[in-house]
Amino acid sequence: MELPYTEPYKIKTTESIRQGTCAEREKWIKESGYNLFKLRSDHVFIDLLTDSGTGAMSDEQWAEIMKGDESYAGSRSYFKLSDTVKELLGMPYFLPTHQGRAAENVLFSALIKEGDVIPGNSHFDTTKGHIEFRKAAAIDCTIDEAFDTSGFYPFKGNLDLKKLEKVFKKYPKEKIPLCIITITCNTSGGQPVSMKNIKEVSALCKKYGIRLFFDAARFAENAFFIKTREEEYMNVGIRDIVRGMFSYADGATMSCKKDAIVNIGGFIALRDKEIFDKASVFNIMFEGYLTYGGMSGRDMAALAQGLWEGTDFQYLESRIRQVAYLGDKLKYYNIPIQEPTGGHAVFVDAKRFLPKLPKQQFQAQTLAVELYKEGGVRGVEIGTLLADRNPQTRENRYPKLELLRLAIPRRVYTYNHMDYVAACMANIYNRRNEITTGYKIIKEAPIMRHFTIELEKL
Ligand SMILES: *Cc1c(COP(=O)(O)O)cnc(C)c1O
Repeated sequence: MELPYTEPYKIKTTESIRQGTCAEREKWIKESGYNLFKLRSDHVFIDLLTDSGTGAMSDEQWAEIMKGDESYAGSRSYFKLSDTVKELLGMPYFLPTHQGRAAENVLFSALIKEGDVIPGNSHFDTTKGHIEFRKAAAIDCTIDEAFDTSGFYPFKGNLDLKKLEKVFKKYPKEKIPLCIITITCNTSGGQPVSMKNIKEVSALCKKYGIRLFFDAARFAENAFFIKTREEEYMNVGIRDIVRGMFSYADGATMSCKKDAIVNIGGFIALRDKEIFDKASVFNIMFEGYLTYGGMSGRDMAALAQGLWEGTDFQYLESRIRQVAYLGDKLKYYNIPIQEPTGGHAVFVDAKRFLPKLPKQQFQAQTLAVELYKEGGVRGVEIGTLLADRNPQTRENRYPKLELLRLAIPRRVYTYNHMDYVAACMANIYNRRNEITTGYKIIKEAPIMRHFTIELEKL
């Protein structure tokens, strides 16, 4: 008999979770203004809100926590981390930050000014927030295939070179401080970018004299997809693919809470000394001295170890397989999802799931609330609430996709948990015709509203 696939690790520590009752969940979600961010985690059974900072560290990482050097300046743990980043990514300069958006804040302070445009593939919400906060604009150049959830395309994170060149032609070089490739592309469904596309975008950027940066939160998962979907790379190791990817970029911002499997941490990697010097000033101002940047020594030590583990093929295979397992299970129940499944999450297409619900009543959010009520599973809306209002007109921006993201924390849940989540979704799917009303906004912040928004049931 062919042996089934199993994870390359076993569990040493456990944490209890509690399901709650239907009545309890109804009460808790109402008290939270139907905003899943406002729930207490004790009131969540299976938490698929995010894969950010929610992973399980290994025994080796916990050992590094004990070995952390807490010196303010010149910490041993800093050098361990900076050596790791330099070796893995091949970038000569490195600045530690406390998380990904902090890296964006520091880098963009050095590079972006009012009136600039920053093309990319569906910029992540904090990236877009930091661009728009500086009165600059993020221009989405993602390929059209990304917005058709039912069509299979292996690299839905790719940039459309025609769209990108149009931006390069329309605006003077001085107004385009950088182009950002998000790997994998979170917003379009955890979809990877091919090495071919990275090369082509890099060549186009060079032709127009534009810097190319990666938003690298899930660079290792992206490398795994390159290895498994791009024929030329089938026999190339993950770390060689990673080096290859980064060889085309001028720098990167990284949220280490994703592929580096730590609970907090981030960094900027750079090729250019001048940008490094400029960014260093902001790093000291916003984050901390150059050899800790908002992290403790032990955080940096565990992070260095996590970067090695996160780029291990066996680990990545177990990770991507578990996400695909949930995706396949949902498809088995006829639930419409973004295909193929992404690296870190399954994205349920709420427009196709709840076609009778008007978009003005927030389809993906409605589905997210239903899932919580059904089984205590917390997902997150990637739709109109996240897309925020147009900064000029203050009108709601209705994105092409209304998605419910089920993000899987790394090394945390079992296949049984995935079965449970799929069954909850199937139950909702079977009663989808009864879901005819959604929600209206009663309170919202001027920027990144989804975190604190309050809603009322219509
Ligand atoms: C999470 C994330 C960020 C922001 O990082 P934080 O660590 O949450 O501040 C930026 N870009 C992408 C693609 C992300 O997934």
